[in-house]
Amino acid sequence: VSIKSLIRTIPDYPKAGILFRDITTLLLDPKGLHDAVDGMAAAFAGRGVVKVAGIEARGFILGGAVARQLGAGFVPVRKRGKLPWQTLGQDYALEYGTDRVEIHTDAIAIGEPILVVDDLIATGGTAAATLDLIERTGGRVVGCAFVVDLPELGGSRRLRARGVPVHTLCEFEGH
Ligand code: AMP
Repeated sequence: VSIKSLIRTIPDYPKAGILFRDITTLLLDPKGLHDAVDGMAAAFAGRGVVKVAGIEARGFILGGAVARQLGAGFVPVRKRGKLPWQTLGQDYALEYGTDRVEIHTDAIAIGEPILVVDDLIATGGTAAATLDLIERTGGRVVGCAFVVDLPELGGSRRLRARGVPVHTLCEFEGH
């Protein structure tokens, strides 16, 4: 059973016209979870990753496991107002309005090699803001790993154009 076939598609969630790629069905499957975590970690094994930065919320589930697999630490990248200590924040554009990701100011040391993990890359807005944040802390982004790429939305291309290696485990057409 492939990773792709374990992902459930829900039409018109959270709004009309969106095909929501639901990884909870992949997480439920022991081999699926193993293969997803292993695939993301293996792509960056031996690259000196010291911390995995996981993007709220599905990036926490996968990123914690990838960090453990790589023998790295874990840094949560959270939505606005959720982190208890001093933060750096980065705003990014949504279709309507803006959103913000935040990181603790002391989570990453200068020059530390960081792997960014999330479940899915679409337009790349969330990941690009996360890369900006990590660069502002002085961290060095070794790469980004996602279970799902939606290549037509251009996010993985956008990250690669910044010179960041991107590894994805499966692709879906459309958005
Ligand atoms: P983007 O910033 O456009 O790359 O969007 C990426 C974020 O939105 C990730 O955290 C995804 O979990 C979520 N996301 C965007 N589009 C979808 C989709 N079609 N299905 C599931 N999650 C999505």
